[in-house]
Amino acid sequence: MVFWLQGCTFNCPGCFNPETHALNGGQVLDIDLLTARLKDHSTNLEGITISGGEPLLQMSPLTRFLEIVRQTTSLSILVFTGFSWEEIQNLPEVDRFLMNVDVLLAGRYKHHLRTANRLIGSSNKTIHFISKRYTLQDLDKVPPAEIVIAPDGSVRLTGINPLQWKEGNQ
Ligand code: SF4
Repeated sequence: MVFWLQGCTFNCPGCFNPETHALNGGQVLDIDLLTARLKDHSTNLEGITISGGEPLLQMSPLTRFLEIVRQTTSLSILVFTGFSWEEIQNLPEVDRFLMNVDVLLAGRYKHHLRTANRLIGSSNKTIHFISKRYTLQDLDKVPPAEIVIAPDGSVRLTGINPLQWKEGNQ
């Protein structure tokens, strides 16, 4: 299950998710409600992915949410961030945050270094296995694109190398 956290100030040229940049967009969700929704589905899940937007702009509530997930489920936790690994070390609460993460993918997206491989969009981004739960070989198995068709028929194209939707496609 993927959670897209709203708000990002990095403005990387070529960003795949510009609709997540506005700091006042998205939907405000209570952590307890979010946790309850997650638990409703957790038997069918391997783990959660935190993406955005820039998740670490909401470090405090995010860390609290991840702590609850860690303490009450066996789900794995993967986090994407535009902050570099070095920048993350200077953020408040970083130790508490990292204790609740299995894999962290860090760094801005740089269009001229595009790679779309192993869950990273550009080759400057770095992969950090905080726990022993996953390895590089596991990331190699992740498909580069996903098509999600909702019950109402709406289609979402996502992934590290998403397909492009063309008008007139059936
Ligand atoms: S950090 Fe991520 S969400 Fe933010 S602009 Fe860069 S690619 Fe987009």
